[in-house]
Amino acid sequence: MIKYLLGCASGHEFESWFRAGADFDAQSRSGEIACPLCGSIDVVKQPMAPSVVTKRARAGRPPAQEPAPAPVAGGATAGADGVAVREALKAFTQKVIANTEDVGPRFAEEARRMHFGEIEERQIRGSSTVEEAQELAEDGVPFGIIPVLPEDLN
Ligand SMILES: [Zn+2]
Repeated sequence: MIKYLLGCASGHEFESWFRAGADFDAQSRSGEIACPLCGSIDVVKQPMAPSVVTKRARAGRPPAQEPAPAPVAGGATAGADGVAVREALKAFTQKVIANTEDVGPRFAEEARRMHFGEIEERQIRGSSTVEEAQELAEDGVPFGIIPVLPEDLN
């Protein structure tokens, strides 16, 4: 997961999550990223280091020669690293939750309707089945996956 601070031509700033850095470029090129305030698709990345949530997100450790980060979906880890990673994931998830509207199981439907301009764009979160997520991806609907920690399910 990579978070970018984005800005539209009218100077609005908003944050968006992407599965990978290349996703922003691809979605931006095809006009799939719109400002949630004015709908402009003239959107650029703001100068800010992207927040990347990976197993590397631990201070004091040199960047390792790891392969490209895979989409974060779950975050199950073990050992000492697991604690720091869990805290980072928790903070990330809480921020997402604080800035989005929970649409529950209607997520896939809402995301698709926004993507095709049937309803106003806004930041939403919710749940979807694996099949729904695959269909969204195939339709080019931009969305991110929030890692859900075990305690969030309680
Ligand atoms: Zn705007």
